[in-house]
Amino acid sequence: MSRFWSDVVKGLTPYVPGEQPKLANLVKLNTNENPYGPSPRALEAIRAATGESLKLYPDPNAEQLKAAIGKYHGIGAQNVFVGNGSDEVLAHIFLGLLKQSRPILFPDISYSFYPVYCGLYQVDFETIPLANDFSIRLGDYAKPNGGIIFPNPNAPTGCLVPLVEIERLLQSNPDSVVVIDEAYVDFGGESAISLTARYPNLLVVQTLSKSRSLAGLRVGFAVGHVDLIEALERVKNSFNSYPLDRLAIAGAVAAIEDREYFDKTCKAVIATREKLVGDLKALGFEVLPSAANFIFARHPQHDAQESALALRRRSIIVRHFKLPRIEQFLRITVGTDEQCDALVAALKEIL
Ligand code: PMP
Repeated sequence: MSRFWSDVVKGLTPYVPGEQPKLANLVKLNTNENPYGPSPRALEAIRAATGESLKLYPDPNAEQLKAAIGKYHGIGAQNVFVGNGSDEVLAHIFLGLLKQSRPILFPDISYSFYPVYCGLYQVDFETIPLANDFSIRLGDYAKPNGGIIFPNPNAPTGCLVPLVEIERLLQSNPDSVVVIDEAYVDFGGESAISLTARYPNLLVVQTLSKSRSLAGLRVGFAVGHVDLIEALERVKNSFNSYPLDRLAIAGAVAAIEDREYFDKTCKAVIATREKLVGDLKALGFEVLPSAANFIFARHPQHDAQESALALRRRSIIVRHFKLPRIEQFLRITVGTDEQCDALVAALKEIL
């Protein structure tokens, strides 16, 4: 720590991302990537964009991508904000929409980036404990607030809040922004984008990192009322007028347009998840209901950290969080059938 650091930076607890191993022969089930890779049409579009045109700045408004997202979701391009991964979109939301005089609310346990952004942007927050079954109970959020944010499905639990409950929250909370972080919604959730036309305080965030297998391209977006989108554009233009490069725009547009590949790969992930849930239960795991591309599970007789280390020695990486209430859980990304079979075979040896 240097004496030149500001008090804000001194107080930050930086987000620690999941392990990013280099070895190709590892079974990597720790950061919720999609094993099937991007749409071949997206890869082709990126290759086609790799040429002379890179000498030109990209479209600062990424109009083509906003139009593609708008068409896909049946909304106007003016209701779409795009960013360099949904993490950047979330950063702009914390600074532009959630930095209020009253604390913002989010669940304890949830995406670990939220408190990081609160620290960075000096946003006051209050966490609301999950229910005993690890679900988010929106009835517990009925208190004065400067905004509410939660992932749906939640991370790292995978639990889903039904859309009717979100609508009830919006009705009872008309004076502050409600942000639904739908990073994993395409694996079994129901998107709240359909509600954005009726609720001007609703902002829905999605990413191309998971269901479109483009984590490396860094594309995310938010959908909501033009007033909310305008706030995010103001923040963006104060940081960087070119959030997405030409390759990202080209690849993202093609990925959004390739519905067939998207449907096929999402279905494959869901089918593997259901099989993996059955296999883990057969081994004695308690598995939380998952609507995501990962599973959150604990074994009543085996220490989670030791199991994670034993898997690591067998070249299989899963995520273990040293956090109260969930320290006996493993979060396992749904890989291919072969990867998940390898995981189950290894667990049979370990347990
Ligand atoms: N929200 C949640 C709940 C996540 O788990 C993640 C991925 N770790 C993100 C947002 C950010 O994803 P990305 O920046 O890749 O779009």
